Amino acid sequence: MDQQTDVIVAKRAGFCPGVKRAIDKVLELEASGHRPVYTIGPLIHNKQVTQQLAEKQITTIDKPQQASDKNGVLVIRAHGVTPEFQKEIESSGMKVVDATCPLVKHAQNVIAQFAAKGYHTIIVGDADHAEVVGLMGYTQGKGLVVSGPEEARKLPYFDKVNVVSQTTQKESVFFQTAEEIKKHAGVCQISNTICQPTKDRQKETIELAQSADLVIVVGGKHSANTARLALLCKALSPAVQHVETETELDENLICSAKKIFITAGASTPSWVIDRVAERVKNLRNN
Ligand code: SF4
Repeated sequence: MDQQTDVIVAKRAGFCPGVKRAIDKVLELEASGHRPVYTIGPLIHNKQVTQQLAEKQITTIDKPQQASDKNGVLVIRAHGVTPEFQKEIESSGMKVVDATCPLVKHAQNVIAQFAAKGYHTIIVGDADHAEVVGLMGYTQGKGLVVSGPEEARKLPYFDKVNVVSQTTQKESVFFQTAEEIKKHAGVCQISNTICQPTKDRQKETIELAQSADLVIVVGGKHSANTARLALLCKALSPAVQHVETETELDENLICSAKKIFITAGASTPSWVIDRVAERVKNLRNN
């Protein structure tokens, strides 16, 4: 059997369009002489990319006051921020570039639209995630975050509620949670704001991980979306290895597997995925 044909790399592995757009914007700014570039919060949870950006003196700060050179540029990352924080950033007097992903902006608008009509907002997601913190800012103070159906069971009763999702949420978790929330509301608007790139990635992962006997998930150990992807794969395939780089690959697992599926989180650069795929193929050739 040709072992190369049994190593499949996900077509949708790596940077999602929103993260790619934000990184491209930052690199364009730096290349066109707009320096220094400050990002409000890390652009991405990937050590290799963060190192590359630091070499170009693109640095991360938490708030505009921390920028030591006021002639620099402030960049709002793909996750977006609350409207209040956006105003604070824009009134800093520095040049501001808003790299909020248009699909996150869509979720912000959906929340704002229903909040203006008096709806409570329930976000299905991770309360500590930067995108969710930003989304909460659009709820007019009537927002709550639940991580899944278990937490939704403890909710009180609402007259009108708008259920939205963190853009990277697993679809099955969103719908199960929304079903539970329906029991706690007079009027329940279900706004599925999971972004299309996430839906496509989940569909591809489910199809290919099911047929593999080893899945290699490439991405930062601190990346929430990579960890979630690894968890999804664990439910579908008998063996899953989560690696940051090719140096962590398990040779025994790779050589004994019949079919390997390589996938990656939305914050993993393509060159890291390519190196992992190359190493897997080399190990299987030896
Ligand atoms: S995961 Fe989706 S919404 Fe979030 S930045 Fe990427 S493309 Fe945009």
